[in-house]
This record gives sequence, C-alpha cells and structure tokens, in this order.
Amino acid sequence: MKIAVVVGARPQFIKLAPVSKALSSIEGIQEILIHTGQHYDKSMSGVFFDELDMTKPEFNLSVNLSGHGAMTGLMMQKLEPVIQEIKPDVLVVFGDTNSTLAGALVAAKLHIPVAHIEAGLRSFNQMMPEEINRVLTDHVSDLLFTTSDEAVQNLRNENISNDKIFNVGDVMYDAALQFRESAKEKSNVLSALGLSGKGYILATIHRAENTDSPNILSNIVDSLEAVAKHYPVVLPLHPRTAARLSEMGRQLNNVQTIEPVGYLDMVALESNSLLVVTDSGGVQKEAYFYGVPCVTLRTETEWVELVDSGWNKIVPPSEPDIEGKILSAIGSKGDPIEIYGDGSASKQIARILASKF
Ligand code: UDP
Repeated sequence: MKIAVVVGARPQFIKLAPVSKALSSIEGIQEILIHTGQHYDKSMSGVFFDELDMTKPEFNLSVNLSGHGAMTGLMMQKLEPVIQEIKPDVLVVFGDTNSTLAGALVAAKLHIPVAHIEAGLRSFNQMMPEEINRVLTDHVSDLLFTTSDEAVQNLRNENISNDKIFNVGDVMYDAALQFRESAKEKSNVLSALGLSGKGYILATIHRAENTDSPNILSNIVDSLEAVAKHYPVVLPLHPRTAARLSEMGRQLNNVQTIEPVGYLDMVALESNSLLVVTDSGGVQKEAYFYGVPCVTLRTETEWVELVDSGWNKIVPPSEPDIEGKILSAIGSKGDPIEIYGDGSASKQIARILASKF
C-alpha cells in the first residue's frame, strides 16, 4: 500500500519522525513524503531530517509565500498533480498548519482517504488560523487520530462519527520518549550557551496573534526582559518573531536570543529548564513531559488538561504584570496525569493504516 504524507512546518517534522519509523517497520507499506516548503531553511526544516534520521522528502513544493490565501492556494495547486501522480491509498496530515489543510482538501476532492494525526484539538478561538485549519481538516478526514479523551469529545460534539475516531495518544510523546536519551548524549547546548541545569527560563514566542500586534509583542518582550533580571532567559527566535522585532527596531538586552535550535538541543533546553514560557502548542506539552512547569502566553489553550492539572498557567499577553505571573509560576508543579498515551501512538497509527488499506 502507498501512504502519501504531507508535511511543511517544524512541528510536523517532529511528529513525523516516530510515525515514519513505525510505518517503515511494517512490510508492504511504501511511504511517500511531500514537503510543501512552508518552513524551508536549515534551522526550521533540514536539521530535523538530519538529526531525527528521517528519509528526505520525495517531493518538495517550495511554497513559502506569506499570506494564508496565497500560501494555501499555491500549495493546493502544486499538490494536486503530485497526488494524482502518486495515487496513494491514503494521505496523512499532521496538526493544524496551512500544509495540513491544503493536503486534506486536495486529497478529499480527489476521493483519497485522509488520515489526520492530532485531530480534535480545539481552542474555540476562530481568530487563530490554526483553529480554522484543524476544524476544516477534521471534517474532511476519514481517519481521525486523537491525542486524548478531550479531543475525542470535541469531535463527538461536532457530530463526527465515532467509527472514524482512534484515540491512540500523542505522537509528540512518542518522539519525546524516543529522543530523550539521544538529546542527553548528543546535545551540548547548555554548555555552549553558558547555562546551568535548572538555573534558567526557556521562552518561545511565534503565534501570529502575539507577534503581529506591536503592542502585544512589546508587552511580551518587556516582561521577558524584566524576568531576565532575576533568572537567565533564553529565547530561540522563530523567524516570524525575529522579523517583527526587527521591523519594530527592538533589541533585547537581558534576554539571550538565539537562532531556532534543532530538536535534540530543544529537548535538552526544555528538560533542564526551571520554567518554560511559551505560546507554542508542542512546547507546552513537552514542558509537561519533562516535569517542567509552564506559563502559556495566550488567552486559551487546546491542551486544557495541562491547565486543569496545574502544570500550565494561562497568562493573556495583553495583561499587566506578566513578569510577576511568570516569576510566581517557578516551582509550581501540577498533579500527576496520564493522558497522552503510553508512547505507542505511532505504532498504533501504523497498524490501523495497514489494516484499513
Ligand atoms: N522546537 C525546536 N526548536 C526550536 C523551537 C521549537 O525543535 O527552536 C520544537 C519543539 O521542541 C516542538 C516543536 O518544535 O517539538 C514545536 O513547534 P512550534 O512551536 O513551531 O509549533 P506549534 O507546536 O506551536 O505548532
């Protein structure tokens, strides 16, 4: 059987790693990888294929325009003939980016079954482009692989038929388990940055709603600068955030800004940090996987279980005194929870795909 997989953005390369490994262990499965080009440079794309030992994409569509309409439209235009050429039995997409939506729409219209990994997440905030992408993708998907009971319930609430839903757990948890030891062995990022274990705060900021408003972005970086007077703060800068800061002419003096890092360095930075401050979906969960408390600079999150259990604190980035809220979250660990599966999500996905097609 032929499985086409569409990826394009950083978190999708990480989710792909354990899934590809599981697919390759089943005889008779041919996986054909299509990279849309949404993230394209070494630090946002190439590094993950190299260090996570993944085969290079067979097709690269080189679509990295800005603007959602242009990007999604061009991806669809370029994907359609590729998928017609491959004629896959099923097309797999991950998460909630424009690459996810473009892949799902093209396959659905070609009557090719769509499998959505990380289905059912909802922020209930239609202002987020990711929310639109994930809702639409779920509604054209034939197989919906969910991370947790909460996601299953969201799909049921939208009348998605139960027989399409497979609650397998989180492939990011699989990746965390698979690469944790390699990160310990191979990453020297802490010494390279002069950081000591449990002595610094790791921050990431990239969501459009935080970067595209100069007031909100200023409020966030002012707060991180203030926090950095108490603890070292390291901030791997996403290209979008770097571009917005540069447009604003804003320099950071106390916060240690660095280029985006590879996954193994990121695992090392997350697992050794005192606190994670982020607006990333994946990083919120990874903080919890490594037992690190997290502050999420958003008005809501899809990963509500982490908030309910006390691991994650939501701090809306337009609020006053973000720095005080960040500092007071240090050391505030949550209750033990077991919600993202047992590390076998990718294997279950591969088995289910093999049995269905
Ligand atoms: N990540 C990374 N290097 C970085 C920042 C993030 O490898 O400099 C990883 C992180 O560990 C997680 C994923 O990228 O696995 C999260 O991606 P991102 O924050 O871009 O997207 P989101 O999860 O919000 O969709």
